[in-house]
Amino acid sequence: MLNIENLHASIENKKVLRGINLKINAGESHIIMGPNGSGKSTLASIIAGKKEYKINEGNIYFLNQNLKNFSPEERAHLGIFLSFQHPIEIPGVSIFNFIKTAVDSIREARNIKKISSKDLLSKIKEKSSLLNIEKSFFYRSLNEGFSGGEKKRNEIFQMMMLDPLLSVLDEVDSGLDIDALRVVAKGINDFRNKNNSILIITHYKRLLDYIFSDYIIHILYNGKIIQSGDQKLAEKLEKEGYDWIVKNKV
Ligand code: ADP
Ligand code: MG
Ligand code: MG
Repeated sequence: MLNIENLHASIENKKVLRGINLKINAGESHIIMGPNGSGKSTLASIIAGKKEYKINEGNIYFLNQNLKNFSPEERAHLGIFLSFQHPIEIPGVSIFNFIKTAVDSIREARNIKKISSKDLLSKIKEKSSLLNIEKSFFYRSLNEGFSGGEKKRNEIFQMMMLDPLLSVLDEVDSGLDIDALRVVAKGINDFRNKNNSILIITHYKRLLDYIFSDYIIHILYNGKIIQSGDQKLAEKLEKEGYDWIVKNKV
């Protein structure tokens, strides 16, 4: 699904990523953890195709196509979904209209039959009830005046509605109380299937306590993946912090 080869990238002439290699197959879920400033959001932004970031070396392939040739919108149309650490606000656009437009355009781009209004509504009902989202929410402007928890739940809701092949979730767990965290985890667990891939970027292990456990975890430090492993690595990290890895590797 996603194949990142020797990725070096910078922002404002500052080198941030220094040779990332990462391969994610369909049905796999990968976690990236790392201290603040290690380059996690940079990696997410580069997969999304944000213009400010420059690839200095290496390539990113999605379904064997080089992403260099695709705009952020085209990437969404290929089936890539990005949830940002700080979601944007769009005053005047209701969530309902935003979702309907996005679902229609992505299905059209991916040659999937247009969803009927009835099916769209029943999908909205199903997913919103799973995420404890109230009906009135859909008539509010996108992210405007949302609490942190509402924004994050809305990101997960969008993901569930758009049904992307690859979801990159950047700190979808930050700033959430335990109930909101559980709801976000429930959405991720429900969404996951054998055909899609998820890349979860997080600073803390706590989300990992509520999602499925068969993930592959990578530690990003100073722009490099310095160690990869399974749930046991996440647990060791929780107990011992990043220091022991950094001491061994750098
Ligand atoms: P993380 O998400 O792991 O906390 P980031 O990818 O946000 O890390 O940042 C990596 C490094 O790049 C940091 O040193 C940060 O200061 C720098 N950086 C990120 N965004 C910008 C920007 N817009 N302008 C300048 N430097 C940036
Ligand atoms: Mg950060
Ligand atoms: Mg970040």
